[in-house]
Amino acid sequence: MLVIKDLHKSYDTGKSKLHVLKGINLNIGEGEFVSIMGSSGSGKSTLLNIIGILDEKDSGIYELDGIAIEHLSEIRAAEYRSKFLGFIFQSFNLIGYKNALENVALPLYYQDVPRKERNKRAMDYLEKVGLADWATHMPNELSGGQKQRVAIARALITDPKVILADEPTGALDSKTTYDIMKLLQEINNNGKTIIVVTHEPDVAAETKRNVVLRDGIIESDTFITQRVLA
Ligand code: ADP
Ligand code: MG
Repeated sequence: MLVIKDLHKSYDTGKSKLHVLKGINLNIGEGEFVSIMGSSGSGKSTLLNIIGILDEKDSGIYELDGIAIEHLSEIRAAEYRSKFLGFIFQSFNLIGYKNALENVALPLYYQDVPRKERNKRAMDYLEKVGLADWATHMPNELSGGQKQRVAIARALITDPKVILADEPTGALDSKTTYDIMKLLQEINNNGKTIIVVTHEPDVAAETKRNVVLRDGIIESDTFITQRVLA
């Protein structure tokens, strides 16, 4: 599903170059549930953004579903993102002037799906995340956990190959974190590949494989016994 070989990434910070990723090697197969940990500034988001085709590597290999991700035009990058990837962020990134249903349906708008079909599918996904009764509510009328559920429904609606989540529970209390991780476990149990960046060991323990970044390389990469949430 995802092949990364000797991947490097630096940022130009004016005077000096900041070498953030110094040779990352990582293979992730279909249906995996992987957490990426590491101290603040260790390059977790940088790696996730490269995987998500939101940022470009400097060198090395990155293949997504057999396709080499290399020197893409912005149009092609957007096409691959919309075809292969679903994103979940710490800050939810919902559109404030659109209701829950419209937020979930939005990715289908960019895929030219007719409006009636968009709304029908958005309603199905709102149901899957337990928010069928909240379809016409605006983001500012929803709790943090509900907003993240809307974001998860939005990420799923295009049936992406991989869900990428950057600190999805970072803004949530522990009970809500539990509920969101339980939902992600359900989604993974239905076959979806998920990669989640987190600094919370509890969250990592609820995935199936834990990768730790340190000093620009992968310090450890371990298949773990998943703590299953009931
Ligand atoms: P993490 O998500 O693990 O906290 P990041 O990947 O966000 O780490 O950042 C890794 C390092 O790269 C940090 O030192 C950060 O300041 C730096 N960095 C991230 N993005 C940029 C950028 N666009 N320009 C310059 N430096 C950046
Ligand atoms: Mg980060």
